[in-house]
Amino acid sequence: MKATNIQWHAGLLKRGSRWKRLGRKGCTIWLTGLPASGKSTIAAALEFALVMRGIHAYRLDGDNVRHGLNSNLGFSRRDRAENIRRIGEVAKLFADSGCITITAFISPYIADRENIRRIHKETDLAFLEVFVDCPIRECMRRDPKGQYRKARAGEIKGFTGVDDPYEAPMLPELVIKTAETDVGECVQACLDLLASRKLIAIAE
Ligand code: ADP
Repeated sequence: MKATNIQWHAGLLKRGSRWKRLGRKGCTIWLTGLPASGKSTIAAALEFALVMRGIHAYRLDGDNVRHGLNSNLGFSRRDRAENIRRIGEVAKLFADSGCITITAFISPYIADRENIRRIHKETDLAFLEVFVDCPIRECMRRDPKGQYRKARAGEIKGFTGVDDPYEAPMLPELVIKTAETDVGECVQACLDLLASRKLIAIAE
């Protein structure tokens, strides 16, 4: 914290009144997994499924956020942590506003994800960690952006899964195995999770 002479300014609405009036509940559904495991694909399909049901949902996607908010960050350990910290803070604000916030980031380190879980917990917001689980061999076979090929050829350094670590979640709220389950079933599993936490109604 660099600025000291600052104070939180509360609005006229408490979260409960806002959500009640809007008829919605916000949360963060955090997809983590290796590159090409399927995070962006599932996030987009889940966002679509929710919005088509009239539910306020919004997706924050790794590459998109690096074009704007985080365009000054690279892939060093420090920059990766800052990338995830900022996304976590933005997701928390979106969730507070009543939005189902879907994030699709490799977010390879447990400590960084646990920090995001903590800041949600501190303000009583649901944080649902979804492990998008796919064997590295299958991720390399898919390689939709050709990045594994480049990383293995040494053209990209510090690539998660090749020469940078990925720490799988130990107690995620949901594990989806994308090598064995099609996109529709993966999305349904996320919808079921949201319904089981009463964040959406089952009939929606
Ligand atoms: P990530 O965001 O994790 O880097 P992408 O979603 O960009 O991964 O790419 C995943 C690739 O795997 C896509 O080409 C997608 O079509 C394919 N794929 C195959 N099965 C699935 C599945 N069940 N869920 C998500 N993606 C899948």
